[in-house]
Amino acid sequence: MNLNTPIQSVSRIGPVFQKKLNRLGIHTVNDLIFHFPIRYEDFSNITAINKIKVNEKYCLAGKILDIKTSRTWKKKMYVTEAVIEDKTSAIRAVWFNQPYLTTTLKQGDNIFLAGKISLDKNGVFVSSPIYEKVSPNPTHTGRIIPVYPETAKLSSRWLRYILKPLLSELQNKIPETLPSKIIKNNGLLPINQAIWQVHFPDSLVIAEKAKSRFAFEQLFLIELAVLSQRIKLNTQNAPQVPFKIKLVQDLVSSLPFKLTDAQRKSTWQIIKDMEKASPMSRLLEGDVGSGKTVVALISAMSAVKNGFQVAFMAPTEILAKQHFDETSKLLQPFKIKIGLLTGKQDKIISQKIGYRIKGVWRPEIMEISRTKLLERTAKGEVDILVGTHALIQDKVKFGNLALAIIDEQHRFGVKQRAKMVAKGKNNRALIPHFLSITATPIPRTVALTVFGNLDLSVIDQNQKGRKKVITEKIFPQYRKKICAFVKKEVKKGNQVFVICPRIEKTENENDKNNWNEVKAVTEEHSRLSEKVFPDLKIEFLHGKMKPKEKAKIMQSFRNKKFDILVATSVVEVGVDIPNATVMLIEGAERFGLATLHQFRGRVGRSDKQSYCFLFTSDSVPNTTRRLQALVKAKNGFELAEKDLQIRGPGSLYGAKQWGIPDLAMETLRNLQLVESTRKQAKELLTESPNLKKYPALQAGIANLSLQIHLE
Ligand code: ADP
Ligand code: MG
Repeated sequence: MNLNTPIQSVSRIGPVFQKKLNRLGIHTVNDLIFHFPIRYEDFSNITAINKIKVNEKYCLAGKILDIKTSRTWKKKMYVTEAVIEDKTSAIRAVWFNQPYLTTTLKQGDNIFLAGKISLDKNGVFVSSPIYEKVSPNPTHTGRIIPVYPETAKLSSRWLRYILKPLLSELQNKIPETLPSKIIKNNGLLPINQAIWQVHFPDSLVIAEKAKSRFAFEQLFLIELAVLSQRIKLNTQNAPQVPFKIKLVQDLVSSLPFKLTDAQRKSTWQIIKDMEKASPMSRLLEGDVGSGKTVVALISAMSAVKNGFQVAFMAPTEILAKQHFDETSKLLQPFKIKIGLLTGKQDKIISQKIGYRIKGVWRPEIMEISRTKLLERTAKGEVDILVGTHALIQDKVKFGNLALAIIDEQHRFGVKQRAKMVAKGKNNRALIPHFLSITATPIPRTVALTVFGNLDLSVIDQNQKGRKKVITEKIFPQYRKKICAFVKKEVKKGNQVFVICPRIEKTENENDKNNWNEVKAVTEEHSRLSEKVFPDLKIEFLHGKMKPKEKAKIMQSFRNKKFDILVATSVVEVGVDIPNATVMLIEGAERFGLATLHQFRGRVGRSDKQSYCFLFTSDSVPNTTRRLQALVKAKNGFELAEKDLQIRGPGSLYGAKQWGIPDLAMETLRNLQLVESTRKQAKELLTESPNLKKYPALQAGIANLSLQIHLE
């Protein structure tokens, strides 16, 4: 027996249980022993029966005086009743629908019982207790017992029954996966001890210690994986883009606004990176509206003016178009060609290319066929190709790609990002410099792990002249006041967002989605247009609408065709509506801080004063703390850190996509641990760059990259 032994070869696991285990992704002994308990019950103290109290949990020990099963005719249920006696007293034990118990437990047996004490008309009794014959080394009682996630119809009792003998057999045979110095330096339990103690701990303290060993290990593997990926990238070649200072200065001074220091710094970092012969891998991070696009565009110009091409990919049609417009506008003084490629495969929606012909800018955009656009791109004639997913189709080829930019990177899958990078390869096996852009504020610990293979540029500063969005928590009784305020804003010519909470599905609704947001939006829309603002123009938007429809609504909102947009969280991504000054969020407590912050970022995008109203009727302390954090926080980074502390890493925006194992996820609260782990991972990689000396770690990383989304 070893860790790779298939579970069906483990004694006591038959085909039925094999299937159930398989359903949980458990195929080998290794999988099984790494199926960890979610919690423990401490039944290590035996309590005398005369000391018990109702509603408390105890472990009792005694002799069975009597046991019998009967069938209640009314409920058609089997009831097994036993009387157990110890030196101090006696008590009843009651089980339901376990008629076979009378064949296991017999009068005169000495047993342990663990469970809760209840009270009925006949007095106190232990209800459905865990039972086990008395022995010096019990499994289910008389100790701290593991409780497993009871999915796929696998009981904790059965898992204990299988795992205990299995772990005894494996005792001291599990190969250590961490280098001994790492174990020593971090005071970790060795693997054999840790595995045993995770399942059958001697104390709750040691159970925690055992778990934290595995949490450390997972964190360590993630750090090693991202750092080795970085090392590998550094050995690859990229087109070198010289930094022509004059050119960049000209461009910056041609802008209609002055760059903030944070924008300057980020631009500098990117352009400096592109000078290098190894590919840049950088994440540009900044709140919505902080001006990330222009930073990307200056960098793009630097590449273009050195004779290279740039690809700029956005997650939606409307964003791609917006980028195309902005690019054309900002880069108008420079003689460059910008293409727009959108639409699903083979379905042509638009292919446009802007030209400066004979030194005269043609403001109207020339439309050319898709074939022509692709031809020119392949020849290297299109300088910047802006687009959607369409950019990563196989038929899109670049002649001379030096920079690939992906906006709102969290909206793309790993594969899509990889495909974008691969676009440069047809050119002398060079990998283009890669710039990801995100408005998701990333806490430090996450930046050092999940995004640890990327360099970070952060725009943490507001543009001059932008007023801080006034944010207020509003209780329902002040609704009228806010409505009056909204009317006033609309009268001034401003526009308003109303975000609807997701409404939890009621039992008789058969919506596949757990949330019925469509209903929430349509109902709120009719309520507002019929009762509250009958004289205003109101439209709605939700996730079930076709992309085309959504784009149309957003576009007409942008063109001020109506006053109020009632929407779900679909509006959280990037379309710029500078004229919107009020963001009204219903059921604010239902959203994560980061999401609320994204909503708020939809307003305050001009020099007008904007407002964000958080409606909530919930006054539990956690909600109050979170909403208060939103009212106070200076930027998204501060908020992300707060959210991490208040709600934990699982609730972090985008966390689901990271695919981090739960144990490691918890470590993301601990900056010190993350930093020290990263340091140790670096040291190990310096000592053994390919981890050749540490095959167990290599294997661990290989295993991990299946689960984790690495850029
Ligand atoms: P985001 O970071 O959300 O992508 P954008 O790049 O779309 O933000 O910028 C939002 C708006 O702010 C754009 O209209 C852009 O032209 C403008 N902008 C960018 N930088 C500045 C600045 N330093 N001063 C004034 N306006 C700016
Ligand atoms: Mg943007």
